[in-house]
Amino acid sequence: MTGKRSLLVALGLALSAAAAPEPGVNTGIAPGEDFFAYANGDWLAATRIPDGRARWGARDEINEATKRQVAALIAGAVTQRADESGRKVADFYSAFLDEATIETRGLIPIARMLKGVDQVNDKTALARWLGANLPADVAPLNLGVYSSSHLFGLAVEYGIHGETKHFAYLLQGGLGLPRAQYLDDAASMRELRNRYQRYISRMLELAGFERATERAAAILALETAIARSHASPEASANERNADQHWARQDFARLAPGMDWPAFFAAARLAQQDDFVAWQPAAIQGAAALIGSEPLAVWQDYLRMRLIERYAEVLPRRFAEAALAFRASDAPQTVARAQRAIDATNRLMPFAVGKLYVDKYFPVDARASVQAILANVLDAFRRRVEAAAWMTPASRTVALAKLNTLYFGVGYPDKWPDDSGLRIDPHDASGNLRRIAEWNYRNALARLDRPVDRHEWAITPQSAMGSLNFLQNTYNFSAALLQPPKFDPAASAAANYGAIGAIMGHEISHFVDTLGADYDAHGAYAHWWSEADKSRYDAASRALAEQFSAYHPFTDVSVNGRLSLVENVADQAGLAAAFEAHRRVLGSRATDRAYLREQDRQFFLGFARAWRVKFTDEGLRSQSGTDHAPEIFRVATVRNMDAWYDAFDVEPGQRLYLAPEARVRIWLP
Ligand SMILES: [Zn+2]
Repeated sequence: MTGKRSLLVALGLALSAAAAPEPGVNTGIAPGEDFFAYANGDWLAATRIPDGRARWGARDEINEATKRQVAALIAGAVTQRADESGRKVADFYSAFLDEATIETRGLIPIARMLKGVDQVNDKTALARWLGANLPADVAPLNLGVYSSSHLFGLAVEYGIHGETKHFAYLLQGGLGLPRAQYLDDAASMRELRNRYQRYISRMLELAGFERATERAAAILALETAIARSHASPEASANERNADQHWARQDFARLAPGMDWPAFFAAARLAQQDDFVAWQPAAIQGAAALIGSEPLAVWQDYLRMRLIERYAEVLPRRFAEAALAFRASDAPQTVARAQRAIDATNRLMPFAVGKLYVDKYFPVDARASVQAILANVLDAFRRRVEAAAWMTPASRTVALAKLNTLYFGVGYPDKWPDDSGLRIDPHDASGNLRRIAEWNYRNALARLDRPVDRHEWAITPQSAMGSLNFLQNTYNFSAALLQPPKFDPAASAAANYGAIGAIMGHEISHFVDTLGADYDAHGAYAHWWSEADKSRYDAASRALAEQFSAYHPFTDVSVNGRLSLVENVADQAGLAAAFEAHRRVLGSRATDRAYLREQDRQFFLGFARAWRVKFTDEGLRSQSGTDHAPEIFRVATVRNMDAWYDAFDVEPGQRLYLAPEARVRIWLP
């Protein structure tokens, strides 16, 4: 009796669903033939790929929307009555835009610093100058920033062995061009260097220095010599560089040529015993050049770097010369108002972030995302407990990782305290200088503090997620949590399919082949056994084959092996999010009609979070990468039984897989 009634209800709903299709879908396409095109029907019809782009998708839309939001926020801050932090944003922006004051003051704002360079009268003074001006503008582990705007840059970050204390990292820097452009002998690169030399010469001339051409040539020669000792971007990106510890006392012996005690004393690092030499050869190279090259050339080099660092807040002739050189690849110059917005966002990242969150990511939105996260994490934990391919020892580590995982949503729980930072609405250069000093002081302060895994490196308005195995953390910025990835106005089911599946994807990386190299403390430690690996390979082989069988063009196929780890994560994330979605429905799930409608929203939410349009060329090139085109990633719904029920997918349809051919890696 009951059975019969629910069957009737189900039929009734199937009919009404057919009569009133969901908004946005392409009813001309059967979901079982091309689910991506079905789910994204209206969007695909309405969207045009901007000129010059190979693809345009959800992420691009979010980036564009965020840019507009941030611009409106910063420009609007000037007229808003804001808290102290908001006022600093407004003041920074106003000062940057105050061209009249900037023109009137000329070089006065940096005169004291230039005079400091004049007074560098021996190599010890040079070392002292470099120490006193050492910036904290690199972030090798946190953000992958491996090069400073100065000859050396400081970072204070965690280690790679799960340590609870911070380390002082010293990194290379001080080049006006990318390293490779100094070293490449191709004619085009020689021409570029000539142009760069003319630019240096022009800047020196504008600042009133004589014999600018000659001095520019010497500066370029010095930079070229510095570049020769620099590590390549690939070598710099190796996390194992964190193991290259130098004691402070060792610098004089390991990198002779420079007065290191004078440098460390001026840098307020004389009490710091342990350093990480991220690129040791670059430190040695720079120190040797300090020893060997004429003081006068070093002084000119420091002057040039100084003028260039401040060029955008110096009189127009400096800013324009810098723009003309830097923007030679991009023909249209960016208007000053936009540059002011960019600079404010870049240099006051968390003050702007606070404004951003106040306006665009209310606490209730955060709470809904956090609830989704908690449920998806629970579902994933159950999957780890049940995964048949995982050995018991590995299961223990995997569960420990998930139990200690910090997953930040939207913004940090604790904002950086900027009460000690003074921003003057009429002193653009001074603001730059004070921000650099404030950043440096903050870095030094971290040396005395234990590692706080809840600290954020990315900003809330940067539209990105940040996975950090070394901290066992993942942060989702508020800007990323916008439609179609997360929509506070959408149903819970749709959000579980969208952001829930993305969260499940990211969570799965902590315990998959990528996360297998890091333990629950964030230490480098490979914890998968041979048995885990071979059983995982066996369980995932069919998914690699599934993806390699996709042919966007007759002569192109998706690289199923290269993209496997991502495709497994998609499948795992979708399955965990689906389980969480079903649990949230609770007793309502007994209503077949309701269940069907909710499941459809879930899968549509999933397909829409990945909406994208490719040019042929774009689709071709992405097919060969480690991230399969989204069109195929979305097709992973064919591995989910519930998708067949929700959309009446039948044998013979393009996406149909027989139940035994559906891949389920994170299932019992
Ligand atoms: Zn991934």
